[in-house]
Amino acid sequence: MTGPILSIRGLRKSFGATEIMRGVDLDVHTGERHALIGPNGAGKSTLFHLLSGHLAPSAGEIRFDGRQIGGRSPQAINRLGLARSFQITNVFPGLTVFENIRLAVMRPYGLQYAFWKFIDHDRRIRRETERLLELVRLTARASTLAGEMAYSEQRSLEIAMTLASDPKLVLLDEPMAGMATEETQYTAQLVREVTQGRTLMIVEHDMDVVFSLSDRISVLVYGQVIATGSPDEIRNDDRVKEAYLGEEVSA
Ligand code: ADP
Ligand code: MG
Repeated sequence: MTGPILSIRGLRKSFGATEIMRGVDLDVHTGERHALIGPNGAGKSTLFHLLSGHLAPSAGEIRFDGRQIGGRSPQAINRLGLARSFQITNVFPGLTVFENIRLAVMRPYGLQYAFWKFIDHDRRIRRETERLLELVRLTARASTLAGEMAYSEQRSLEIAMTLASDPKLVLLDEPMAGMATEETQYTAQLVREVTQGRTLMIVEHDMDVVFSLSDRISVLVYGQVIATGSPDEIRNDDRVKEAYLGEEVSA
């Protein structure tokens, strides 16, 4: 692992008079799996919206891969190599699994994607779509309507769509939310596999997943990062225990 791929300094965000991000400082190292944990309403999803360009910061700096990205558009940030999933699923239920992934693969081509170019790129797009299907083990489901699949399969599909732009940094917001234990373990293993060779930042509530998957963990409480460290460091951090983890993890 080398230096930070993502460097956040003094990041602030207010909605009206309410300050939600209250000066966040955070580094994510290249190649690490970095979990962001914290109580409900701490601002974890808001931080992801700021990183992905879906919200503009009120103040502060976000440097990604050497560039200042705060306030740029989601499309511009995605083109630089940052991709995200949403807490609320993003798949098109009326399209097949294959069509969903193909749409995500085609997305970077944007408006340049005229029909005559479709012929040229068709094979490459098909191959990339098939590679992603296989990566998330949905090949057998290619022609199933996304909306007819189990919830956990829809989440796998969304992970594939997030990876379609071949991002350096992947942000996943609660990819295991609402899953039973077995599905959670399956999805955690999938996340581990598909983020090999990339950098991952993940928001997750399941502490077993967080502590086994992460190289480092940051704890966000009330719009501020109160600690960053290895799983052991976080487990033994008194402020973290007091503010969030309580006896659940220290036991
Ligand atoms: P988390 O993901 O950690 O549970 P969120 O980032 O979703 O927390 O929310 C943090 C706080 O910001 C919450 O109190 C929420 O109500 C508030 N919030 C989020 N988005 C908006 C918005 N667009 N306008 C006003 N308040 C918001
Ligand atoms: Mg959230």
